[in-house]
Amino acid sequence: MSRGKALAIRALGPYGGSAPGYRLTTFLIDGESSLDAGCLTDALPLAAQRRVRRIVLTHAHFDHIVSLPMLVENLYGNGRPLEIVAPAPVLSSLSRHVFNDRIWPDFRRLPSRARPAVSFLPFAVSHVVPAYGYVVSKPGRSVVFSGDTEPTDLLWQAARRARNLRAIFLEVSFCDAQAAVARASRHFTPRMIAAALPKAPPRVPVYLYHMKPPSLARIRREIAALGEPRLKLLESERSFRF
Ligand SMILES: [Zn+2]
Ligand SMILES: [Zn+2]
Repeated sequence: MSRGKALAIRALGPYGGSAPGYRLTTFLIDGESSLDAGCLTDALPLAAQRRVRRIVLTHAHFDHIVSLPMLVENLYGNGRPLEIVAPAPVLSSLSRHVFNDRIWPDFRRLPSRARPAVSFLPFAVSHVVPAYGYVVSKPGRSVVFSGDTEPTDLLWQAARRARNLRAIFLEVSFCDAQAAVARASRHFTPRMIAAALPKAPPRVPVYLYHMKPPSLARIRREIAALGEPRLKLLESERSFRF
């Protein structure tokens, strides 16, 4: 049963999605919010960039923020404030290390009090820097984004609590042969997903993203070998309506 307006999510990739592995995390939500900002300015024409009102960040790693400075510059003087929404540890990293008038000018604006139609509820996950997943919801529907994380029950607790959950977007970064690197950098491999999947709410599709390009071909084979129809590799641009 669905009530209210659909949640429109576009997984964006640079160069029309032709870069392999869906690596630079960017999920455009209802055209006006973006979960992470890996490739907004590469993927969207200027007119579409101008419709973006808020950037919601999972963490401050470069692959999630790389287009943010250019977006802030493109929208400067646009008349509408661009909100940057993230838990305090993420915002303070951005202030200290990016928008510090050395790497990039600090021309962000303060978050406005506008209430978005979509709500973004962060929950802590487990990565090498402070990092958060999000429950993104609208009346009658929600989806969960893991952000960058190693396996953690915090993710599945958030997913089980989410009401009317339609999909989980889960990171997978390395192939199983790279498990040691994945553990050290706190990411998932396909085998870790197989071990964690029984904790996920049943029957909800799980879209996998954030594959490192050198691991992509193996990840594809390893996910296929799991024979789990819920798992879908998100390799290029795609639009969803939930
Ligand atoms: Zn990261
Ligand atoms: Zn990342």
